[in-house]
Amino acid sequence: MQPRMNTNRHESSMLNAADFRKRFFPQAARRDWDDWHWQIQNRFCDRKGLEAFLHLSMDEQKALDGQNLRLPVAVTPYYASLLDPGHPQQALRRTVIPVTGEWAKARGERIDPLGEDAHNPVGSIVHTYPDKVLFLVTDQCPSYCRFCTRSRAVGQGRFPPDRARWEEALSYIESTPTIRDVLLSGGEPLTLEDDRLEWLLRRLRRIPHVDLIRIGTKALSSLPQRVTPALAKMLRRYHPLWMSVHFVHPDELTPESARACARLVDAGIPLCSQTVLLKGVNDDALTLKQLMLGLLRFRVKPYYLHQGDAVAGTAHFRTSVARGQDLIRALHGHTTGYAVPAYMIDAPGGGGKVPVAPGYIRGRKGKTLLLDNYQGKPYRYTEGD
Ligand SMILES: *Cc1c(COP(=O)(O)O)cnc(C)c1O
Ligand code: SF4
Repeated sequence: MQPRMNTNRHESSMLNAADFRKRFFPQAARRDWDDWHWQIQNRFCDRKGLEAFLHLSMDEQKALDGQNLRLPVAVTPYYASLLDPGHPQQALRRTVIPVTGEWAKARGERIDPLGEDAHNPVGSIVHTYPDKVLFLVTDQCPSYCRFCTRSRAVGQGRFPPDRARWEEALSYIESTPTIRDVLLSGGEPLTLEDDRLEWLLRRLRRIPHVDLIRIGTKALSSLPQRVTPALAKMLRRYHPLWMSVHFVHPDELTPESARACARLVDAGIPLCSQTVLLKGVNDDALTLKQLMLGLLRFRVKPYYLHQGDAVAGTAHFRTSVARGQDLIRALHGHTTGYAVPAYMIDAPGGGGKVPVAPGYIRGRKGKTLLLDNYQGKPYRYTEGD
């Protein structure tokens, strides 16, 4: 595999969070910065806001000025402080600042690549597997990821967090006894206030056939201030509760994020990470290994590496599958197996996730398998009946 290192933040040209706050929010105290409501209220949402602290490239300017962006633009001040003002190619910057590549629709791309809109028994539920459902509790996110699979809907009022929609979803779950696993998703479930989230969790816990409750969240990387002691204390009352947390790059592994993860893990909530494989962001062996090992240090288990869904306007983010397989090979055996996520393609149209890990069986003779080890050396193993 070609050695290639993605562009990380350039420490020399960057301010730390405290200096970023003093420079761009001189009125704000540390207490404001640490308040997630303040973070949401002070997001950067347009060209004018962003160019106050970023040197925007021509392409970024053009994308921000255009009317053709499906997905809104928003970046929390916290996440903004992780962006490199001078380098449009910096990994995190590419994930939140739009480029004109989003206007294109490449071959095979779809607005709704997973066919979710065809698997909505009720508005806020996506039900494609037998025993688990996605419950889209809100369409709002603190920051919008330019590669989002639900760019057709998030930030656009498609699944607003309203009681009537939630009641409809809860009745569906109540009346479908095969559902034993409910994954709260969106949008960002953690944009809901504690009491609203608790209302949902309490209602779900009252349903006898709901065994596992999960929350899918990007907030641990985009808005770690959201994980207050009060939130952790509330969530721990609804066990077994797990979280699928979204991280794409080691630059997201900050002290703030570490503290948010620790609060949740200390509350007994297992954290599993999901990472979308993104060209020029995390598609090199060193970056991916740093991310996976850093997550383990935060007590997060790397769960999935997702091949980019063929979402309209994301061709500039998608790698080949061979590249993803090479990246998994570069992890397996070279470091702890804990650090190796399962590599998945979400089958277009609603077929579910398909594991596409590289194979290590080279061939067979009768009952004898010829295996490759992680170094590519051949080994023989004889199987039973
Ligand atoms: C990914 C996904 C889930 C959760 O799948 P797990 O593999 O159990 O984490 C559930 N429903 C849908 C529609 C999904 O896309
Ligand atoms: S946080 Fe999740 S739902 Fe929101 S924009 Fe990012 S990927 Fe999409």
